[in-house]
Amino acid sequence: MPYGKYQNLPLSERLATMLQATQAGTWEWNVQTGECHFNQRWAQIAGYSLSELEPISIDTWQRLVHPQDGKVSDQILQEHFDGKRDFYECEARIRHKDGHWVWVRDYGKLVSRTASGAPEWVVGTHIDITALVELSQRFEVFADLLPGVVYQFELAPDGTSRFPFASKGLQDIYGVKPEQARITAKSVFETLHPDDFERVRTSIRKSAETGDDWVCEYRIRHSGMERWVFGHARPQTSIDGSTLWYGMIIDITDRKKLELELERSQANLKLAQKIARTGHWEANIETGELYWSDIVYEILGFDSDLVTPTIDFFRSLVPEEDLAIVLESEAKAGTTGTHDVEHRMKTASGNIIWVHELAELQSDKKTLVGTVQDITEQKELELKLQRQAVIDPLTEVYNRRYFSQALDTEFHRKQRYKDPLSLITFDLDHFKQVNDNYGHGVGDKVLIEVTKTVSRQLRATDVFARVGGEEFAILLPKTTFEEAKKVAEKLRQAVQELVVANDDGPVKVTSTFGVVAMNEHIETEEHLQQIADRALYSGKQAGRNCVYCADQTLY
Ligand code: GH3
Ligand code: MG
Ligand code: MG
Repeated sequence: MPYGKYQNLPLSERLATMLQATQAGTWEWNVQTGECHFNQRWAQIAGYSLSELEPISIDTWQRLVHPQDGKVSDQILQEHFDGKRDFYECEARIRHKDGHWVWVRDYGKLVSRTASGAPEWVVGTHIDITALVELSQRFEVFADLLPGVVYQFELAPDGTSRFPFASKGLQDIYGVKPEQARITAKSVFETLHPDDFERVRTSIRKSAETGDDWVCEYRIRHSGMERWVFGHARPQTSIDGSTLWYGMIIDITDRKKLELELERSQANLKLAQKIARTGHWEANIETGELYWSDIVYEILGFDSDLVTPTIDFFRSLVPEEDLAIVLESEAKAGTTGTHDVEHRMKTASGNIIWVHELAELQSDKKTLVGTVQDITEQKELELKLQRQAVIDPLTEVYNRRYFSQALDTEFHRKQRYKDPLSLITFDLDHFKQVNDNYGHGVGDKVLIEVTKTVSRQLRATDVFARVGGEEFAILLPKTTFEEAKKVAEKLRQAVQELVVANDDGPVKVTSTFGVVAMNEHIETEEHLQQIADRALYSGKQAGRNCVYCADQTLY
C-alpha cells in the first residue's frame, strides 16, 4: 500500500493494522455481563479459529486457562480493579486444541465502570510467549545441572549488591537461597574467608572499573566448612551506573588441596635438594631437550631466565677429558637402564666442580630422569686421600708404590706404541755424613731442597719418586737415551750447585745418577729397574757426583 494512501486511512483502521502486526490476540470483556469479544489471533494462539470457539463468553477463557493460572489471573485483576495496580499483567497457560499448554502474557486495563462504580469493560491482549518460557525453563535446568553456580550479580552505584539471578548451586556452595540473594548479596559476602574478603572486593571493583572479566580464587566458610571456589564473570555497565556481571562460580576445594599439597611437597623437595646439593633433570635423548630443576641452575651458577639447557649445552660444560666417560655411561643406560657417572663440570664462572649423575632410562626408551649432585667437597677429599696414598709425606714427590704402578703402565704403553722411555735413578753421596755432621733434621731439609730442585727441572709427564731413604727415580716417557743423559747431567749440576742454608753454615751435597733407556734387550720393568740400579752403583764406584749411562755390559 503506497504510504500516501495509508496515511489517509482513519486512525481506527491504522491502529487495527498495527495491532495485527504485533501478533497479539485481543480481548474485550464485560465484567458485569460476561460478554466477550476476541479477535481471530486470540483463538489462533490456542489452535482454534474464532468460529470453532463460538459461542464466545468469559466461559470460553475459563474453559481454556490452566486452573491454577486462572486463579492467579483473577487475583491480579481484582488488585487492578481495587486500584492497587495500574494494569493487569500476568502469565498464564491456556490449553491448546492439541492438548498441550501454551504460555501467554496477558495484559489488560479496566476502561469503564458502571454508574455505581463497579468494574465494567476490561480490554487486553494475549501474546504467545511459549518459546520464551521454554527457553528460560531450559536455561534453568542447565543452570541447575551445572556444577557450581550460574548467576547475575549487580553492583549498584550506592555500593549495594544483589544476585538478580542465581542457580540452585548458590545454596550448595554458599548456603544462601537464591531468593534471598536476589534481594541482597550480604549473606553471600558474609561467607567469605576473612583473609580473602578484601582481595575479592578489590577484584570486583577492579572488574567494574576496567570492564575486564572478573576472575578470582578464594575461600569461603560456612556451616563449619571451608571451601575454595573459582569465579569467572563478565561485567556490563548500565546507564544508571550499576554493573551487572554474568558468570559462574565452581567449587575447586579438591583441586586446590592437591595444588597446595603439591606446592608444599615441591618446596620440601627443593629444600631437601638444596641441603643435599642435589638437583634433578630430565633429558630427551632423541630431541636433545633438557630440563633442569632450580638447584641444577644453582649448582652450575646459571640464571634460569637466561639459559635454556639442552644436552649439547650440558656436554659443552663437561671438560674434554671427562666427556668420554659421560658418553660411555649414557650409552650404557641404553642397555642397563641406569646412567651413573662422576665427572667434572665447568660452572658459569669458569670454576671446575665435581658432580655425580644418577639417572634411570624411562620405559619410553628416550627419557632419562635423574639427579645431579655437587660432590666437589667429597671428591676433593677423596682425591686428597688418594694423593696421600701415593705421595711421600716428607718430600711431597711420589712414593715407591706409585712409581711401581707408573712404571708398569708406561712399560706396557711403551710396548704398544714403541715410544722411547727412559729411567734415571739417583742417590745422594755420603748422605750419612750430612746426618752425622748436622743432625737428622738438617738431613731432612736437604732431602726436601734436593727434590724441589730436581722437580723444577722436570716436565709434567715425568714421574719423579722417592724410592728409598735418599734414593730417587725418574721415569721419562717419550724420552730417548740421549735426551735422558742430558736431563741427568742437568740434574747432577743443579744438585751440586744447591746450597741449603743452615744455622751451622751452608750445606752442600752431590748426587750420583744412573741412566737407562728401553731397548729390545730389556723384557720386564724389573729388568729395567735393575739396570738403572746397576748404573747408579757403577757411578758410585766411579767416584760419585757423576752420571753413569747403562751400556750392554750391565744388561
Ligand atoms: P753413598 O750413598 O755415597 O754411598 O753414601 P751414603 O752415606 O749416602 O750411604 P747410603 O746411601 O747407604 O746411606 C743412606 C743414609 O741416608 C742412611 C741414613 O742415615 C740416611 N737417610 C736415609 N733416609 C733418611 C731420611 O729420611 N732422613 C735423613 N735425614 N736421613 C736419611
Ligand atoms: Mg747415599
Ligand atoms: Mg742410599
